[in-house]
Amino acid sequence: MIRLKQIQKFYRTSSSSLHVLKGIDLEIGQGEMVSIMGASGSGKSTLLNIVGILDTYDSGEYFLNDTLMKNLTEVQSAYYRNQFLGFIFQSFNLLPFKNAMENVALPLYYQQVSRKERNAIAMEYLEKVGLRDWWDHTPAQLSGGQKQRVAIARSLIAKPKVILADEPTGALDSKTSVEVMELLRSINQEGITLVIVTHENDIAALTDRTIRLKDGLIVEDVMVP
Ligand code: ADP
Ligand code: MG
Repeated sequence: MIRLKQIQKFYRTSSSSLHVLKGIDLEIGQGEMVSIMGASGSGKSTLLNIVGILDTYDSGEYFLNDTLMKNLTEVQSAYYRNQFLGFIFQSFNLLPFKNAMENVALPLYYQQVSRKERNAIAMEYLEKVGLRDWWDHTPAQLSGGQKQRVAIARSLIAKPKVILADEPTGALDSKTSVEVMELLRSINQEGITLVIVTHENDIAALTDRTIRLKDGLIVEDVMVP
């Protein structure tokens, strides 16, 4: 599903250049549930953003579903993102003035689905994450765990093959974190590939495979016992 070959990434300014990824080789198969670990600044988000076609790389090759993701136009990037990928972030990234249902429905708005139809589908996904009764609450009226469930429902509504999560439990207490991980596990059991960036060992232990980044390289790639 995801295949990276010798990926390198630099962040350049006029005066300096930071070599963030120094040759990443990585394969993640359909249906895997993988965690990416590493110290702050080790390049986890950079790697996830490249996999998510939110950022470009300087050398190497990235194949998504056997298609080379390189030199894509904005339209092509958006096409592959919409076709394959869902995103979950630490800070939920919900629209503050929209209720839970409208937030979940948002990806379908961009697919020109009518309001009535997208709201009906959004309600099904809210049901799936246990929040049907909370549909008319805005983000400010929801707990952290509830907000992340809304974000997960939103990521699912376009039927992605892969969900990329950058520190999805980073803003949650440990009990809520485990609940969110259980929800992500149930999504994985439906066949969706999950790539979860975390710096918490407890969270990585709830995935099947852990990849550890250090100084821009993969230093460990192990199955979770
Ligand atoms: P992590 O997610 O593991 O904490 P990041 O991938 O966010 O690490 O960042 C890796 C390094 O690249 C850090 O030193 C960070 O400061 C730097 N960096 C990240 N994004 C940018 C950017 N857009 N421009 C310049 N430097 C960046
Ligand atoms: Mg990060």
